[in-house]
Amino acid sequence: MRTIDEQGYHFEEWLTPEQIAKDVQQVANQISADYKDKEPLFVVVLNGAFVFAADLLRALKDVRCEVTFIRVSSYWGLSSTGKLEFIVPLQQVVENRDVIIVEDIVDTGLTIHQLKAHMRAHGATSTRVATMLFKPAKLEYNDAKPEYVGREVSEEFVIGYGLDFDGFQRNLDAIYKVKQ
Ligand code: 5GP
Repeated sequence: MRTIDEQGYHFEEWLTPEQIAKDVQQVANQISADYKDKEPLFVVVLNGAFVFAADLLRALKDVRCEVTFIRVSSYWGLSSTGKLEFIVPLQQVVENRDVIIVEDIVDTGLTIHQLKAHMRAHGATSTRVATMLFKPAKLEYNDAKPEYVGREVSEEFVIGYGLDFDGFQRNLDAIYKVKQ
C-alpha cells in the first residue's frame, strides 16, 4: 500500500486511481441520464475540484454543456452565520440555467449551502451538486446534501485527487486517509 508523509502526518492510500475512475464514471452516468435533454452549466469550485471536474466532464455521454469556475473561501465573522468570500467570482450568467456545482468534498455543507443561495439569487433554474466525496456525518446544512456522490467517507481527513494539505498534495493520483 502506498503511503505519504506530509508535515508530520502519515497518510495511507484509501482509493486507488482505478477505484476513483469507477466512482467518477458512475457519477457521470447518472448525470448523463438526468441531463441528456438539457444544457447544464457546470460551476467548478476551485481549487480542489479541478481534478474531479476534468475526469467527470470527459466521462459524460451526450450532454451538451458549458463549464465555468469560481473560487470561494468561507470565513466566520462576528455573526454566527458563515459568509462566503468570492476570490474568483462567477463569470457566467446563471439565469435560466440548470447549474451543477462540482465540488471535491462536502463536509459541513456550508460552502454548498451558500453557493446554492447565490445561484438562486442569480436566477438559476435549478442547482444540483456533484462531489467526489461526501462526509454525511459532518453535514450541518440539509439543503447541501449532494445529489451526485462519488463515494461517502467517514470523518477522517483525506488528501489527493485535488484535495490538499495546506496547499500541497493535490496532484496525487489516489486518495489518501490520515492515520493517527
Ligand atoms: P464545507 O463547506 O462543506 O464544510 O467544506 C468544504 C471544503 O472543506 C472542501 O471544499 C475542502 O476544501 C475542505 N475539506 C473538508 N474536508 C476535507 C478533507 O478531508 N480533506 C481536505 N483536503 N479538505 C477538506
